[in-house]
Amino acid sequence: MNLNIRGLKTTKPVVCLMSAIVAAAVSFQAAAQDILPAGRTAVEIKDGVYPASYFPNTEILGADEMRITALGTGMPNQTKAAVSISFLVELGNGDKFLFDVGTGSTGNLFSVRPDFSKIDKVFFSHLHVDHVGDFMGLHVGGWLSGRYTPLRIFGPSGATPELGTKFYVESMQKAYAWDLQTRSGALPDAGAKLEVTEFDYMQENEVVYEENGVTIRSWPAIHSLDGSVSYSLDWNGLKYVFGGDTYPNNWYVKYAKGADIASHEAFLPPKALAEYFGWSLTQATYVSTRIHTEPAAFGKVMSAVKPRRALGYHSVLSPENYQAILEGIRSTYDGPLTLAQDLQVINLTKDQIVVREASVDDYVLPPSVGQGYIDAPRSDEKSPSDKVNAGKWEGYTPPPMPD
Ligand SMILES: [Zn+2]
Ligand SMILES: [Zn+2]
Repeated sequence: MNLNIRGLKTTKPVVCLMSAIVAAAVSFQAAAQDILPAGRTAVEIKDGVYPASYFPNTEILGADEMRITALGTGMPNQTKAAVSISFLVELGNGDKFLFDVGTGSTGNLFSVRPDFSKIDKVFFSHLHVDHVGDFMGLHVGGWLSGRYTPLRIFGPSGATPELGTKFYVESMQKAYAWDLQTRSGALPDAGAKLEVTEFDYMQENEVVYEENGVTIRSWPAIHSLDGSVSYSLDWNGLKYVFGGDTYPNNWYVKYAKGADIASHEAFLPPKALAEYFGWSLTQATYVSTRIHTEPAAFGKVMSAVKPRRALGYHSVLSPENYQAILEGIRSTYDGPLTLAQDLQVINLTKDQIVVREASVDDYVLPPSVGQGYIDAPRSDEKSPSDKVNAGKWEGYTPPPMPD
């Protein structure tokens, strides 16, 4: 996509149009905290009674409330109904956090049309493609949609520097040099930047982020190679745990305790996995029960952690699998449970946990951008060289630029 399509600084009429949209959006900002898409109005939820479905940007998140949106809950071979792993956590103080950004997940992120000026922090559990595959899509798509500050990435080190988060991010930045250069000028300069915080994957429940009353900690996970972690987010007396991918481990059982929402993979059990991929039962058993956490093991972990609600993901909840996953979990755990599906939304307060589905359109416009985005400094735009431009066909004359 060529950036000039949105051309925020190139033509006055576009700027005026954007200002009008922003003015409309800003009028709702005070009430809703976020910049809302033009034409949307958010209302307060009264007495804890929520609409049956969640229509993004129509509800004011309560000051003491947390909203968790499952953007991706499936496998690396994503489907229309289940893309790869990502969770969006929004807080009543206005902060937003992404945990993983697996392949396909940004489609669901853009579908809920968040205020992208606040989508500036992503936490990687590990560097499998089903957890980080949409990273550059998030970076560039968010930059196009309202983010005018650097994207901040938090993630673990690996056993060697080349297996760590910093190497991954810097390598992606190099690989996408052409793309990133084409956008410089049309988009805010600062939005191009990537700020990486790489921390020791072996640290146990140590703080990796602490700002604005939000504390995020990490601990090791056991998965494929060294360098996979789990996270907890504590804010306002509420605790969300994101497990990433892991074999059942001591650290999770210890540090996820007290979670309001404890998410953890509940992978396909061996037989279902063998049928799903066409693998031998031996291979499927190894992957399901040595690299990941099968449903019965997930249940055991949750029986030990005892969260207010357990959240299982990283499965394919197709009709032939659903029964096996549920039976596996229920053989070892009888507490509150959600088997996460894409675009499920959990509203969490001290009094309530409400699980709903988000209702989104197949085709949505990007959300409105704020004045800060419009005013943010931009360098000169790039264009092809004279020798390439010399090849423009004389058989076409573009319309004159508007005044
Ligand atoms: Zn993995
Ligand atoms: Zn995974």
